[in-house]
Amino acid sequence: MAVSTQVDFIAPTIRIHTIRSPLPGPTAWIEAGIHGDEIAGVHAAEELLEAGLEPERGTLIVCPLMNPGAYRAQQRVAPGGLDLNRCFPGDPAGTRAEHRLAATFMSAMTNARPDLLVTLHESKKKFHPDVQPSFGQTVVYGVKPAPSIVGAAVSRMNASTQHPAETWAPHYYPVSTSSTEVIVDRLGCVGLCIETWMGFPLARRVEMHREIICVLLEELGVGARFHSGS
Ligand SMILES: [Zn+2]
Repeated sequence: MAVSTQVDFIAPTIRIHTIRSPLPGPTAWIEAGIHGDEIAGVHAAEELLEAGLEPERGTLIVCPLMNPGAYRAQQRVAPGGLDLNRCFPGDPAGTRAEHRLAATFMSAMTNARPDLLVTLHESKKKFHPDVQPSFGQTVVYGVKPAPSIVGAAVSRMNASTQHPAETWAPHYYPVSTSSTEVIVDRLGCVGLCIETWMGFPLARRVEMHREIICVLLEELGVGARFHSGS
């Protein structure tokens, strides 16, 4: 039995890929590029789609680029725009594009009912508990207790680091106005932000994002395999 793939355009340049296994299972929503200067997650998501990433069971949803205008400008926020990460749940009748876009994402997520939402970010500062805020190389969660998938993902990532500076940590950092927390609040799913440190070369950051996506999918029970074509 083959997976089915559906691509929805929620805006002319914003794609949501829904890949369904014929086997029942949980739903994972992976998204990147909410901040336009944090590009490793965007590239990782695109590369995994190009490589034919599929769920072994359940449903995998991927939005590789949430904020194309910010991405093209290589800035956190699109020129003249708002921080999309602070515009959720949005407003379909809003006067600002980011509020309308957030509402569109919100409605797509409400329909999809993901069990796990993963937003791929990057951080200019390496995480240190004494430096607030700092996020580089963390799996961030905003609701205690830490979801069990956090510890599992951190220890699996730390088993394959190439340098001691790559060491991952769980990071409890609630921000009630962040998109992830607004969505977690509304949908009751587990929501995580993945933060690589931008001090590493882009190619390595992309590799780490690809790896943690696959690790999280495996830990959730969706699994990750690659369709090689037939
Ligand atoms: Zn970010």
